[in-house]
Amino acid sequence: MAIKINDIPPEGLTLELAHKLDLFDKGVASTAFTAVLSFKPSGAGLLHVAGRIQAEPLLECSRCLKSFPYRIDADVKVELAPASTVESGAEHELDRSELDMEFYQGEEIEPVAIIKEQLLIAVPMVPLHDADCKGLCPICGKDLNEAACDCKRDDQGTFGAFSALKDIFKK
Ligand SMILES: [Zn+2]
Ligand SMILES: [Zn+2]
Repeated sequence: MAIKINDIPPEGLTLELAHKLDLFDKGVASTAFTAVLSFKPSGAGLLHVAGRIQAEPLLECSRCLKSFPYRIDADVKVELAPASTVESGAEHELDRSELDMEFYQGEEIEPVAIIKEQLLIAVPMVPLHDADCKGLCPICGKDLNEAACDCKRDDQGTFGAFSALKDIFKK
């Protein structure tokens, strides 16, 4: 659902959205979100976007590979500028460094695209289903959160590389 820039009144426009989107480009819109976003023109084609986005995408734990819901509740503050301001070299006039600056093409903006980008920023680089996740046994592949296995690992388990470092420092 795109919004025409020209249709946004000078006093601004507030949208409440609740829908699903395809956050990780998997071909299925599986991430439900709710968002309240207000769009306010601030001259020269600039749009001030502010609001809040909530979603709970399923992430994969980077240690045990289990899927888990990750709660995102993010405040949004973005300045949207027409892409033509970059081409004309006028972007240094837009000194609003305290805000995220993004650019739009043409006459329309797509709120869901803005929401998707903000959600991707909020997703951790190394998702963990639990900060203490024990991960999978590197030998038998068993989920060590569920039960220990009988494989012969060193006492540090998956952190063996660190204990090797410790040994180097002892010498
Ligand atoms: Zn995990
Ligand atoms: Zn094992």
